[in-house]
Amino acid sequence: MLKIYNTLTNQIEAFKPHQDKKVNMYVCGPTVYGDIHIGNARPVIFFDVVKRYLTYLGYKVKFVSNITDVDDKIIDKAKQLKVSEKEITDMYTKKFMDMTLLLGSVVPDELPKATDFVPSMIEYIDDLVKLGVAYQTPSGVYFRVNKVDDYGILSKQNLEALDEGVRVDLDQEKEDPRDFSIWKNTEDGLNYDSPWGKGRPGWHTECAVMNHEIFGHEIDIHGGGSDLKFPHHENEIAQTVAHDHHHLSKYWMHVGRLDVNQEKMSKSLGNITLVKDLLDVYDPYAFRLLTVNHHYRQPINYSEDLMVQFAKEYDKIKRTLKKAFLMLNLEHIKLNEVDHDIMTTFENIMNDDFNIPNVMTLIYDVLKQMNKEKNNERLGVLYKSVEKILDILGIMPLFTIEDEVLVMYRDWEQARNQRDFQLADHLRDELSKRGWM
Ligand SMILES: [Zn+2]
Repeated sequence: MLKIYNTLTNQIEAFKPHQDKKVNMYVCGPTVYGDIHIGNARPVIFFDVVKRYLTYLGYKVKFVSNITDVDDKIIDKAKQLKVSEKEITDMYTKKFMDMTLLLGSVVPDELPKATDFVPSMIEYIDDLVKLGVAYQTPSGVYFRVNKVDDYGILSKQNLEALDEGVRVDLDQEKEDPRDFSIWKNTEDGLNYDSPWGKGRPGWHTECAVMNHEIFGHEIDIHGGGSDLKFPHHENEIAQTVAHDHHHLSKYWMHVGRLDVNQEKMSKSLGNITLVKDLLDVYDPYAFRLLTVNHHYRQPINYSEDLMVQFAKEYDKIKRTLKKAFLMLNLEHIKLNEVDHDIMTTFENIMNDDFNIPNVMTLIYDVLKQMNKEKNNERLGVLYKSVEKILDILGIMPLFTIEDEVLVMYRDWEQARNQRDFQLADHLRDELSKRGWM
């Protein structure tokens, strides 16, 4: 049985979704005002593996990830480039999807845009005001944190600590320094009419409302980067509890940070690597391997050396598989069967809170067996098992082979047997040029 570390309870728990064999999953997506960097790519990769594995286990997964297309940063970028905000968000939404696909992740089942839900957000905020859990000020609307009993439940911060943390916030309009903005009055940039004046909804409200509109009840998994735990996820929960009288999600999964040479990736440190720049140099699957080969809850300390190391690792994996693929095609071996022991071991490891680094240890072990295997039927079974597992991790290389290559390979073997070394060398060169030697 699948067990997941639930950030809400700080415990490994048996995974029991609300409905038998159906999983509703929501992962906080990007604010689309720039190219994504390799740190942003980590959740994109990990939650794709979660979806693939749950599907493998027989669950029907509905995977939703939002696009934040209304935000101060978008307005600033639009001003800077002297174009409309929509041009910015359309361009970077497309770039985000292109990168998602390049990284080998499937596009989520739904990618709701915040701007498509603004009327619902206004209604939702209005409900909160009427319920007395939100209040209007000259600058907009704030959520009244002390109206929610277990505020801090996710981030495990007690209210005093939270108080400390926000004391620097000198907004005099707030009743309590912990209260957060759910509507901001402004006429600068994209804005909407509301009962409180022209303005925009707050980010925390966007996700709460999209969950409410799309799912309508408590979901099974809510995910995101660990840096979103507080305040974003905490505030999503608070609004859902206040408005819908149920929790937002049964399980919360948070992916660790990706640091660069022991430092947080940030614009001010100038250590940001964009996904598009990385993929100009490296195989996307090699980066994917680097990512999944670290336990998802642990931080990754990225460096160029580490990337080079995983590029070599991935080449090694590909070489073994390609050699086997050639052999299996030469012998016309049909790939139907998997090795049930290997698959059971794989499931046991994955069921232990997605322990993918241990899955890779298993894979390396099977590849070693494949390198030694003389029986082609058995080689086919091992190949099929690895293929199935690497498909779930999203790193199975795609091979195609032309009949011409198979003929050439057989001719090469024959030339060698007949000691026609000149012909054998020539064929060997040809096969090598095509990457099959
Ligand atoms: Zn969110």
